[in-house]
Parts: sequence; structure tokens; C-alpha cells
Amino acid sequence: MIIVLKPQSSDQDIQEVSDRVRSLRYQPRVIRGVENTVVACIGDELNNRSLEALRNLPAVDNVIPIQHRYKLVSREYHPADTVVRAGKATIGGDGICVIAGPCAIESAEQFRTVVGHLTQAGVQLVRAMPYKPRTSPYDFQGLRDEGLQIMRDVKAEFGVAFVSEVMGPAQVEALADVADMYQIGARNAQNYDLLETVAAVRKPVLLKRGMASTVEEWLTAAEYLLVNGCSQVVLCERGLRSFDRAVRNLLDVSAIALAKQASHLPVLADPSHAAGKRALVLPLACAALAAGADGLIIEAHPDPANAFSDAAQQIDSAAFDAFLADLAPWMELAAARKRAH
Ligand code: PEP
Ligand code: MN
Repeated sequence: MIIVLKPQSSDQDIQEVSDRVRSLRYQPRVIRGVENTVVACIGDELNNRSLEALRNLPAVDNVIPIQHRYKLVSREYHPADTVVRAGKATIGGDGICVIAGPCAIESAEQFRTVVGHLTQAGVQLVRAMPYKPRTSPYDFQGLRDEGLQIMRDVKAEFGVAFVSEVMGPAQVEALADVADMYQIGARNAQNYDLLETVAAVRKPVLLKRGMASTVEEWLTAAEYLLVNGCSQVVLCERGLRSFDRAVRNLLDVSAIALAKQASHLPVLADPSHAAGKRALVLPLACAALAAGADGLIIEAHPDPANAFSDAAQQIDSAAFDAFLADLAPWMELAAARKRAH
């Protein structure tokens, strides 16, 4: 931490600040400039108490943290890329992983049909969402526990792996036998109790970025999973709330590139929830791959026009192989770039 003192601070002020720094188990180093004096504080900001409280001293102008708030997530701590496995799917490493599936499980027939289409197109990890976080309580809430039995039946038939969103601890338990990976959605991206609960189960976790989370908050949320024992974590950029309603959310491609540099964890993009419109999903998917994403999570439905939720953005699952064919040159280029690094 760097503590910036107010101009014209006296020797006594500097002494007082240095004493407080020492009492919090940091070593103060006083640097006197022409206008300002700063006190550089040497010590581990993660394991010692924060120096933030020093802001309240009359002589202190600013307290500036130097260390990141995350450690286990960082590339400095773990330079090699982490590879996450869910069923037969691998996320991270040299390949590009495409996860796909409907916004929600709507019926046995709908889910069976979509999984048939997607497995035929080569998808190994499917979105299976019996529980839906909906903005309005009057919107379709998902089939909930009824959806679990549909998942079990479809899994027995197709042998496919599932990623399922959990909004609370009861759902973590309910899904334990049938989900291969848990999703923490944008609305729960900073629900630290839920992150700790999910981490304890030791299944892989797909952690979305909150719609108004900074990159540091996103990576620090992932730190909650790692520090609580879950090493199989995938980050997912899904777009930010912005001033412009022309798109549903603003896909932050810089955050994808930044997260890849700052962290060893795989990074996916969700172009469907960013775009909000079918026609934008492919170009956003290409942009995400160009920025270094390890893969994509895409919404696909056998009858998108009549979907119970997110109808405008879902790809027709019967044409998912054509969607993947359009994406193939970009996926190959992205995979070749990863192999070269
Ligand atoms: C979802 O993936 O089903 C979802 C609700 O997305 P998000 O949390 O990104 O809004
Ligand atoms: Mn959706």
C-alpha cells in the first residue's frame, strides 16, 4: 500500500502515520517529494489487516493498494493454464470448447430434442437449466424439481455432461447426482455464501461475471472458489449493463483478454446473453475467440420463436451444425494461436 499524505504535513504527522503502519505489522518507508510525502508500506496485504482505516487520519490524503485482492487465481501464483474437465469436455488448454443448450428446460420433449441435435453436432457439455433466475416473479421460473427427472432421463439416453445454474444451496444438493458442472450466474456473481457452498462440493464451476462487476471483482469472486478448495473454475464474460439498449449487454472483449493475462483459469464468453439477438451471436462469438477466449456457451432451442425465455437470442438447434460450420475457421485459428503460445 502507498499512503499519500496531505501537502504540508509535519514531521509529527509523518511519525504518527508511520507508527500506525508499524502497529498494523507493515514496514513504513517515508519518501519525501517536493510537494507531497508518501509512505510506502511493505507487508502482505492479503494476510495482514488492511491499511484502509488510515484514511481517517487527518494528515492522510489517499491510501492506494498495490497488491491484487486475489492470489490463487493469478498467473503469478500459477503460470501454467488450468484445464477444467466436465464429463468428456475439456475447457482450457489447446482446444476451443463449445457448450450449448436451451435457456431453460421447458419439457421432456423439448430437452430431449435439443440434446439430440446438439450431441449430433458434437457438443459434449450441455446447458441444463431446471432453475432459472428471472427478473420478474411472473416470468417462467423453470420446471424446477420436475426438470431434474428430465435431466436424469436425457443423461441416461445420451450420456452427455450437464452444466446447471444454482441460485441457492438447496439447488446445489438437488443437482448433485446429475449436474457435472455448476453455473453461478451474473446475478449471483458476488454471492459469497453461495460461492463457498458450491466450492465445498468439488465439482467444476462456471463463474459468470456480474453485469456490473469490475474485472478485479470477478477474479476475486473466483478466488472465493479456489481458497475454499475448488480448483476447477471457468470464468465467463457475458456482457455488462451499459447505457446503450441496442444490444442486451455490452460484451467486454477487453475483459476476456485481460482475464487471460491476469489468470491461469480458462475464460469462456457467452455471446447469447450479451447479444440478446440471434443475428449478433456469431459475430460476438468470433470477437470473443479473437480476444483469446477458450470457448463459448451458446443458447440453442429446437423452436426458438416459441421459447419460454430468451426467445430472441436462441439459435435453432436443428441448425446448430451450420452455426458451428460458420464458426469453424475462427475456432481453428484460435486453437492454432493457442498451440503456438
Ligand atoms: C443463463 O446463462 O442462463 C443466465 C441466466 O445468464 P446470466 O447469469 O449471464 O444472465
Ligand atoms: Mn437465457
